[in-house]
Amino acid sequence: MGYVELNVLNNTVPAPAPQVALGIDLGTTNSLAATWREGRPSVLRPDGRSGLVPSVIYFPESGAPIVGREARDHAVVDPRNTLFSVKRFMGRGLADVAQELATLPYAATENERGLIQLEARGRRYAPEELSALILRKVHDVASTALGEKAPTKCVITVPAYFDDAQRQSTRDAARIAGLDVLRIVNEPTAASLAYGLDQRDKGHVAVFDLGGGTFDVTILSIEDGVFRVLATNGDTHLGGDDFDQRLANLARTALGAEHGDELTRDPAFQQAARQAAEHCKIELTNQPEAELHLMVPHKRIAWRRRVSRDEFEALTADLIERTLDSCRRALSDAKLTAGQIDEVVLVGGSTRMPVVRRRIAEFFGRIPHTELNPDEVVALGAAVQAQILMGGRRDMLLLDVTPLSLGLETMGGAVSKIIQRNSTVPCEATEGFTTYADDQTGIDFHIVQGEREMARDCRSLGRFKLKGIPPMPAGMPRVAVRFHIDADGLLTVSAKEQSTGISAHIDVQPMHGLTDSEVEGMLKSGYANAVEDFAARRAADLKTEIGTMVLATEKNLNAGRAGLDKESIRDLEDALRDAKVAVQQDDVKALQRARDEFERAALPLAALLMNNVAQKALMGRSLGDV
Ligand code: AMP
Repeated sequence: MGYVELNVLNNTVPAPAPQVALGIDLGTTNSLAATWREGRPSVLRPDGRSGLVPSVIYFPESGAPIVGREARDHAVVDPRNTLFSVKRFMGRGLADVAQELATLPYAATENERGLIQLEARGRRYAPEELSALILRKVHDVASTALGEKAPTKCVITVPAYFDDAQRQSTRDAARIAGLDVLRIVNEPTAASLAYGLDQRDKGHVAVFDLGGGTFDVTILSIEDGVFRVLATNGDTHLGGDDFDQRLANLARTALGAEHGDELTRDPAFQQAARQAAEHCKIELTNQPEAELHLMVPHKRIAWRRRVSRDEFEALTADLIERTLDSCRRALSDAKLTAGQIDEVVLVGGSTRMPVVRRRIAEFFGRIPHTELNPDEVVALGAAVQAQILMGGRRDMLLLDVTPLSLGLETMGGAVSKIIQRNSTVPCEATEGFTTYADDQTGIDFHIVQGEREMARDCRSLGRFKLKGIPPMPAGMPRVAVRFHIDADGLLTVSAKEQSTGISAHIDVQPMHGLTDSEVEGMLKSGYANAVEDFAARRAADLKTEIGTMVLATEKNLNAGRAGLDKESIRDLEDALRDAKVAVQQDDVKALQRARDEFERAALPLAALLMNNVAQKALMGRSLGDV
């Protein structure tokens, strides 16, 4: 299995695609883009670098926000202004995420509509706005890798357990970033696509995703190229970080006994312990023994201890057990046994650990797919889906499923489910309702999403009213309520009274989504920032250029002084001084002027130096050599 399989996807030799689209894995810790190139999906890596963009945003004191690797480095020094894990807040209210917030160093509030906002440098940002910054960076990296502007059409992946509001938030983020979303795809579906599993006529797939901070397992069924989520389970607070923590505890216990709590509470110690632990863990993936090596220079501590793979596995056995418990629950929800799973796919960096691979193989009784890089498999699958959508083969894999049931609140606050979870979209269903009081002329409809029985335990999606029913005895009117979900997942609910034909309808916007005007506002500020971003980049380039010129001039001016006239020297010294002033500011125009002026004033010195070099080169050579 692997890349070659993908060439025969759809049983046709793919003609050169008229246009390509990006596949984007918008992750909690890292994001990545891939696209279809030369008949297969490939990750977009600029100059052979990894292409992974850490999903981290740093807000400097002035200037545009910094996204990615550079931003991640700021998390240690300026944690309050470095936002990460934004994906956990997409489409959520404060109450949904109270637990997450308690563990994070930055502040969050709710706006008047109950939407969460994260704070940095005294400004509030919607999670969609922050995700848009990450998406824009991913797009920039993709453009660098392609050597031209990357396509704006894209497929973006989300966890299978994301509800409607979280999916809508993801779409909004893409819109703010100037991207055109062809489809939101479940991450496990994408991982299965990357392995070409859609080619099976029928079967069951388990996708086991263990990343840095989150874990989920999803059971999918495939039938004629359509993936259906049967069950998903997991823990949004379990991942590689917990494995690191167990190793870091070894250091904490040993050094705490020797140096006391003051040391183990020191943030620099904690950071060093985390890094040493992760390093040791990764070494243990490749070799049976490794060293846990911790240095805290300002405390004059250099500590080493050898750890065997067996010891590491014993220290983390309960974490592996927790993942297997989730697998058991997911199988039970899907009403399947481990033996009925035909394919197992591993996703996420932590599935490189040999113990994960071994225990999963034992649990499912089959060797899991590990041929593709577990950090890239979701983006690769998104690129496969993007290629299929762009190639016009809309018959395949286009079908997605609703993650949660949709229904109406009935008398007494119960829920009548109209579209069941896991229904393939597009789909529709109609159900009959009537009045409960004599001469009732209107009915209020409350649309909810979720699996719970009572409306108050489900997510409210919207309300609308059917008015103008002629007065009739209770139970007489016949109102047909139709739920329709289109291929893009947009829900429309309509109600029609059969005897009179009066009707009403609503296009459902998830309550936790942004309003159109909010998205528009963010789009505008996105464009405004784009100008700012460009100016900041230009200023930085000019400063580097001037800095190099200043250094070279200072180095050579004394040597060249004797060969230059007084006026040229004064001119150059003036330009040098002005350039040094200009680099203190971010004014692009002033920087450009200073650079041009400096270049002009440095010409006589440059000419002199060139002359000297040429003379030296000629020295001792006869004319015949030249
Ligand atoms: P992800 O969120 O999928 O990028 O996964 C990141 C997690 O994978 C981090 O906890 C890493 O320490 C872990 N990881 C990456 N490479 C390895 C490896 N070779 N062995 C064990 N864990 C790894």
